[in-house]
Amino acid sequence: MNLALFGATGSIGKSTLDVVARHGERYRVFALTANGSAERLLELCARHHPRYAVLSGMAEDRALRRRFAEAGTELLFGSAALELVAGHVETQAVMAGIVGAAGLASTLAAVRAGKRVLLANKEALVMAGALVMRAARESGAQLLPVDSEHNAVFQCLGGAKNPRRIILTASGGPFRTKPVETLAAVTADEAIAHPNWVMGRKISVDSATMMNKGLEVIEARWLFDLEPERIEVLIHPQSIVHSLVEYADGSVLAQLSNPDMRVPIANALAYPERIDSGAQPLDLAALKSLSFEKPDLARFPCLALAYDALHAGGTAPAVLNAANEVAVEAFLAGRLAFTGIARVIEAVLAAVAAGPADDLAAVMKADAQARSAAAARVMALAA
Ligand code: NAD
Ligand code: MG
Repeated sequence: MNLALFGATGSIGKSTLDVVARHGERYRVFALTANGSAERLLELCARHHPRYAVLSGMAEDRALRRRFAEAGTELLFGSAALELVAGHVETQAVMAGIVGAAGLASTLAAVRAGKRVLLANKEALVMAGALVMRAARESGAQLLPVDSEHNAVFQCLGGAKNPRRIILTASGGPFRTKPVETLAAVTADEAIAHPNWVMGRKISVDSATMMNKGLEVIEARWLFDLEPERIEVLIHPQSIVHSLVEYADGSVLAQLSNPDMRVPIANALAYPERIDSGAQPLDLAALKSLSFEKPDLARFPCLALAYDALHAGGTAPAVLNAANEVAVEAFLAGRLAFTGIARVIEAVLAAVAAGPADDLAAVMKADAQARSAAAARVMALAA
């Protein structure tokens, strides 16, 4: 299977290449993309020999193109090249591993081209869930969830369409038990030090605020076509149960594994078959206990904001997502307090009116409005 790996230099990219390298007979790395890390991408090309590489955040550079050509890879520049590779006739599967709204256009292009799309980038469904799902129905694209919770639900559903509810688990992040009044002063390094998972910086901060779970509730709403009332969140600090599905008869099915993204990645790559992911087998006897608790919305206001945006509908989730991206970037740069993230998002949701999200232009307009409103709010809070 020819695989185009978007976001190859990131955390999902690394785990995907690890799984793929274990199964050279099944998967051919057809394309690798990165935003701007040219040297890192070149190293990956020398190892995996893709036909194409894309530096989507860079302008044409002939010397660089020559160096990639020496490694046997054709280098393309600019974001339009992502869509070209996503829809290429020889691309069979696309791993959507770009972080943030920047992943929407290429994900949508892969869906429209009817590819097998392994969806790690959750922001595409948060921003434009109705559009992406409609495009998948029209093109026949196969959307396979890579986000560990959604992959768990997908496995527990096993094709069933009528669960009573699903329960998404969350670790609670590094600040689950930290006194709430001390959260304003936490640093970026503390926020990205996740207890169970090693991930990119943005999603790590999202896990600390629990906005990550809020985005995942919206992602689940679209992937599994469920009303918000049927999607619950429980904190499970051990990150062993990746999510659960409850049926009408009272049965609850869960998927368990060690917290290692290679598990859902291998599942999505090989579905409906099963392949070795490289993850350590789960040793249940060594685990002392598995615990669950309800999230405290006063500690995690971002989770409530995400449910609000989902209920408001239309472009509101795109506004939520854009405001979150701007606020998280400001926090990582030391321009905004950790507790300012929720304040910025709440203010932007109140300021930017939601409209219908019927086409990509409407979504991108809401995204742009929310970004400028969020930037202004960050400045106001810093002053
Ligand atoms: P990361 O920051 O480690 O990597 C991001 C990748 O995207 C890099 O290859 C980077 O070059 C590329 N990229 C960044 N900005 C870009 C832009 N503007 N245009 C094009 N490419 C760009 O992120 P990650 O942790 O691997 O997360 C990737 C996605 O997967 C996110 O949407 C995240 O929510 C989702 N996800 C990640 C994990 C995880 O364990 N890391 C788990 C579940 C879901
Ligand atoms: Mg997840």
